[in-house]
Amino acid sequence: MRDDVERIISQAENEISAAASLAGLDEVRVRYLGKKGRITVALRSLGSSPPEERPALGKMLNEARESVETMLSRRRDEVAALERAKALDEERVDVTLPGNRPPVGARHPMRIVYQELEEIFGRMGFEVADGPDVELDYYNFEALNVPKNHPSRDIQDTFYISDDVVLRTHTTCVDVRVMKGRKPPVRAVIPGKVYRSDASDPSHLPVFHQLDGFAVDEGTTFGDLKGTLARFAREFFGPDTKVRFRPSYFPFTEPSAEMDVSCVICRGKGCRVCKNTGWLEILGSGLFHPKVLEGVGYDPEKVSGLAFGMGTDRIAMLKYGIDDIRLLAENDMRFNRQFVHI
Ligand SMILES: [Zn+2]
Repeated sequence: MRDDVERIISQAENEISAAASLAGLDEVRVRYLGKKGRITVALRSLGSSPPEERPALGKMLNEARESVETMLSRRRDEVAALERAKALDEERVDVTLPGNRPPVGARHPMRIVYQELEEIFGRMGFEVADGPDVELDYYNFEALNVPKNHPSRDIQDTFYISDDVVLRTHTTCVDVRVMKGRKPPVRAVIPGKVYRSDASDPSHLPVFHQLDGFAVDEGTTFGDLKGTLARFAREFFGPDTKVRFRPSYFPFTEPSAEMDVSCVICRGKGCRVCKNTGWLEILGSGLFHPKVLEGVGYDPEKVSGLAFGMGTDRIAMLKYGIDDIRLLAENDMRFNRQFVHI
């Protein structure tokens, strides 16, 4: 029996040192110390050995159990350290591998146009102002001399949130907001989205873009308006661009005029884009109606103001030869990337 116990210990020792994983070590533990393990079974069968040998045998077996437990515990530490080292080795990050480059976007053509417009008008002393897209009826219409029953207020075109709240139909409402908080002289341009209940087609979208601008000071004249807009046209479309003004009507300006530029495609000779007229309609403009100035607390006897507004989708389309406004809204990177180098 003593020899048997020594053999069990030596076999356990071999198996323990041969085990290379925590799972393998656990199998060894079960084989010797589990419910049906060799040492457990030997201890249980002590009763069948001669009574005088039992104490010594029992002591031996208990010592064997302790010895196997100690060996298991030591080996467990070694194997755990090996497994950790192996895992660290396998998971090591190779910092010399090329990284994952995130896809690089491109500035949207509308953003490029806005930036250029802001720079051109910025050089003429206009600051950039901003206002809410969801606007009070008051700022969108009434403060611009368009009372509730005014014929120019076509209810079909306006998205109403409630009786008094609309999605702004132009950025001109921000003119009023800026003027209300300031004393003349004040000059600002307002880039932004506007909303009208139009169906989408190659030249219409229910959401499109405008840039409005205005300047109020003592002695501002129609000559200042023409000079400002002619300079914008030459800087934006090219130094040989011609401009012409045609009388028009807007409720918030008097007098009012539309400005055309010589066709940027055919340079005035006549083509499909300008419908063979040689001219392109670019923007509406005028001098603020006295009622608008009064409404923001200015004295129309003392100050006057020029104002203009343009559809910047159309400006971008003309500048870059884009023939469908919907391309500007689709955000297709293949389209947007074409303007990266402009
Ligand atoms: Zn043309």
